[in-house]
Amino acid sequence: MPTSEALTARALDILETLVAFDTTSRLSNLALIEWVEAYLDGHGVPHRRVPNHDGSKSNLIASVGPAVEGGVVLSGHTDVVPVDGQAWTSDPFVLTPKDDGRIYGRGTCDMKGFLALALAAVPGVAAADPKKPVHLAFSYDEEIGCLGAPDMIAVIARELPRPALVVVGEPTMMEAVRGHKGISTFTVTVTGKEAHSSQTQLGVSAIMEAIPLLASLKALAARLEADADPASPFLPKHATLTVGLLNGGTAGNILARECSFQFDLRCPPGQDPLALLAPFRAEVAALDARLKALFPQAGVKIVQRSGTPPLSPEEDGVAELFARRLAGDNGPARVVPYAAEAGQFQEAGFSTVICGPGSIDQAHQADEYVDRVQMERGGAFMARLIDWAAAGE
Ligand SMILES: [Zn+2]
Repeated sequence: MPTSEALTARALDILETLVAFDTTSRLSNLALIEWVEAYLDGHGVPHRRVPNHDGSKSNLIASVGPAVEGGVVLSGHTDVVPVDGQAWTSDPFVLTPKDDGRIYGRGTCDMKGFLALALAAVPGVAAADPKKPVHLAFSYDEEIGCLGAPDMIAVIARELPRPALVVVGEPTMMEAVRGHKGISTFTVTVTGKEAHSSQTQLGVSAIMEAIPLLASLKALAARLEADADPASPFLPKHATLTVGLLNGGTAGNILARECSFQFDLRCPPGQDPLALLAPFRAEVAALDARLKALFPQAGVKIVQRSGTPPLSPEEDGVAELFARRLAGDNGPARVVPYAAEAGQFQEAGFSTVICGPGSIDQAHQADEYVDRVQMERGGAFMARLIDWAAAGE
């Protein structure tokens, strides 16, 4: 059996390779997937792709060990957020260990560090005459709304011997996390009619018409805050709604033809985002009708961009108990406010926990890093995973 030190060292070698692939979500992840496939082939591990609609990106599923029920799924995303406009002090796509014990690079904590650890465990699991399988589930487009994972999860549910549990390796400092909020994202586009801004009777400003909609969302956000469940384990306790992007108009003296904005609604388990937004949708429909009555080309559209379910804490969930055992974690119950594909696995009927190296505080930042100590804890986790696979319990 490889030692935890050997697993950590192997993971760091693999991490160097994974970081060098620029898998920003707008780009293809296939070069990384091909490298992983070659690595798996080298260890005799079967794998399959679950591609997107045009084949430009793909999920990857691999199974190490026998085709029996009761396996463990290690899940993570291959894409990373952009580095554009960020002030990095090292090349984000070159793994850069520094004397402070931090290992820098885009994706080191979110979440190629976990992928590297999972891949590092593959030879050990394969050589251990495993009684239970370890499945790898690597997805694409997580950072833009967990778009890749649903197809992959459907294949796992339909075609693999039923796994017992799923570990999603988002950065949690290698501590078991049992819940996360859901996220739904929307784009609203208001279309007006251009005219000279002195001639308001000849057109309609999309920006002026967007203002009441924006005010309604702000009021809804305040109501959600006021309605916080005092017993909620989340921080903040309430559902949040923010407008993150807004565009409109072409000049100060032209009635704007278009104004569009994006917002996200993040709900704790038990709050239904679509129900919360029903009054807003009614307002959009009413404004749409009123604008179309003025000018047929005017109107308002609302489009849902993504919808990721929350991860509801399970009482004595088998995934959490498993992750606590492997991570040596006896700490308190924990939840996180950010969304991940864990809720999607749970929705498909799998006991699911989040546990991975590094801190979410470093994710998405310039000079993203993972602490070496975190990778060492990940190496210890994987060593116990190999023991578990060998024993089958
Ligand atoms: Zn992530």
